This record gives sequence, structure tokens and C-alpha cells, in this order.
Amino acid sequence: MNLLSDLKELLLPRLCPVCGKLLMQGEDVVCAFCAIGLPRYRVVRLEDNLLLRMVWDRADVKRATTFLIYNPHSPYHRLVIDFKFHGMSDLARRLGYWAAMEAAKQGFWEEADALVPVPLTWWRRLRRGYNQAEMLARGMAEVTGLPVVNLVRRTKSRQSQTRLSGEQRRKNAEDIYRAEVPDEWRGKRLVVVDDVMTTGSTIAACAKALNEADESAKVSIFPLAFAGDY
Ligand SMILES: [Zn+2]
Repeated sequence: MNLLSDLKELLLPRLCPVCGKLLMQGEDVVCAFCAIGLPRYRVVRLEDNLLLRMVWDRADVKRATTFLIYNPHSPYHRLVIDFKFHGMSDLARRLGYWAAMEAAKQGFWEEADALVPVPLTWWRRLRRGYNQAEMLARGMAEVTGLPVVNLVRRTKSRQSQTRLSGEQRRKNAEDIYRAEVPDEWRGKRLVVVDDVMTTGSTIAACAKALNEADESAKVSIFPLAFAGDY
């Protein structure tokens, strides 16, 4: 399944996921026109920003950054839909690469030792053929040289989040992630990577699991996109 989708991505003409136009030589993730309008999210202070404030009461998170504003009413949301639901794993890797390049300009990687993707349930991982957060992290690793380590796992599948209230959502997310931090990774600066941060309950729950598994870990978060502020 994975091989098939990889082949498809290699052989089919590459289209801009945002506008559908054929990508020209030198255009990578999106076409030049869509690149100009890319809805970037500008984090000014890595140690104090809206993303951090959304998770502070739930986990000990040192720094946060993101790359894009996620707005389901904007055509740019297709970037995420394509790698999440349309099998375009390589798009996730290339977006992770781009996001990491931008974060490098902010000095985000100066305090990072490893990338920790938010895990999927095993059956969703199997069905999709890849974990999109891990593909994002792999793209980030190409820029930073940091290892991608799967330290967090999902202990059970949860109820769908959509019908739950904020408080229920939070409890639901907190219960399902567990982390195990082997000796070689203790006391390290770990960056939790995810696709889209909305309420922050998933990424905060993963950060909390890492806090609990290793009190000396310094945890940061890096969702590709942030949906909380548009
Ligand atoms: Zn385009």
C-alpha cells in the first residue's frame, strides 16, 4: 500500500495541492502563486505565545512554534487534507522540511535533541499506510539532522472527539497517551510534532505523557498548522 502510493506520487504529474495547477520545474510543495499567499503563522516569541498558553495548564511545555494557519474555509487547508486523507505521505515530508527551514530562522532548533511524532492508533496507521506526524517529523529531520523517536504510544482508541465538550475532550485525550523514555533519551529536549493543533488537547496530552515518563525532559511542541486563531 505504501509502495503503491509512493509510486503514484512519483509517476503522476505533480499538481499544486492548493489550486490544482501543474507544478513547474523548481516549484516544490505548491506553485509559485500559492506560495506567495501561503497563510504563515508568525510566532514572535518561542517561549511565550498563544500556542503555549493554550497548553500550559495541561503540560510543562517550554517552547512552541508552528508554520501555517489552518482555516478549513481557505483552499490552503487542502495541503493538510491531502497528506492526511489522500495518501500523500511525501507531501507531509516536504511540508515538514519547509516548516523546519522556517523554524531554523527563528532559532527553534537550537534547543532540540529529538523529534517525537504524535502517534496514531495501530489500525489507523495500518489503514493509512503511514503516520502523517511521523512523515512531517522525517521532513524536519532532513533539515535538522535530529533523530525521529517514537516515545509516545496510544494505549487505546478513544471516542470520536467531535461530540465531546471541551472538558470531556481533554480527559479523553489525557487518558490515551503513554510515554516510555529509555535512558538514552532522558533529560533531553524533545519536540512533539503533529499536523494541526486546534484545542491543543492531543499535543498537550502527548507532552504530558512525556513529562510523566521523564520529569527531566524539556518538552516543546511543533504542530505544522494552528487552527486556533484565524
Ligand atoms: Zn497553486
